[in-house]
Amino acid sequence: MATEQAQNAAQAEAKPKEEKQTNCLSCNKPIRKIRRYYRDGKFYCTKKCWSNFIKKPKAEEK
Ligand SMILES: [Zn+2]
Repeated sequence: MATEQAQNAAQAEAKPKEEKQTNCLSCNKPIRKIRRYYRDGKFYCTKKCWSNFIKKPKAEEK
C-alpha cells in the first residue's frame, strides 16, 4: 500500500530584485512612505504629481 503523503511544499517566493523607485517621476523628489501616491506601478509624491506627470507639460507656465 503506497501511501502518498501530501507534501506541504513551502512556497518559496522568489521575488526578483527590482529597483525600488524612490523618487517621484514628476518632480524627482524622494518619496516618503507616509506620503506617496501609487499609480500604474509607479510612485509619486501625491496625486497632483501623478496628474502632472500624465499631463503634457504646458510650454507656457509661469
Ligand atoms: Zn512629486
